[in-house]
Amino acid sequence: MNDDCLFCGIVAGDVPAQVLDSDEQTVAFMDINPATRGHALVVPTQHAADLLEISDEDLGRTFAAARRLAARMREPLGADGFNILNSCGPAAWQTVFHFHVHVVPRYDDDPLKLPWVPKPGDPDEIAKTAETIRGA
Ligand code: AMP
Ligand code: ZN
Repeated sequence: MNDDCLFCGIVAGDVPAQVLDSDEQTVAFMDINPATRGHALVVPTQHAADLLEISDEDLGRTFAAARRLAARMREPLGADGFNILNSCGPAAWQTVFHFHVHVVPRYDDDPLKLPWVPKPGDPDEIAKTAETIRGA
């Protein structure tokens, strides 16, 4: 528990939230700025700032809970698909520094767009970057 952390406050029940599900290791609740109808977040009960800090076990539990939630939402919301998203670090849009997975129900006619334009990269550049990662 981190006293300065908003999502620790939700886990503790000190900050109001529309909680959907919880167990020993995870809590799922509605996002207050929904990207689509049903947008929810799943967090570990144990504080970890981000993807690089969370334990493998809590990561697995949190993703399993996100999948359970997606399966549970599909029929009542009429969702056609889901994006399961995580942002790690301010450069990647993370704004709340308690690890969380976004469960974003998707609908055939929703307005969300892929945030990048897929186009073929330079194969040499890709190979060089792979070499950099492997050599690190
Ligand atoms: P991120 O930008 O990936 O760190 O996601 C943080 C998410 O938390 C955003 O989608 C916010 O809308 C959401 N959020 C912020 N404050 C609250 C809150 N009090 N209750 C529920 N969701 C929140
Ligand atoms: Zn926290």
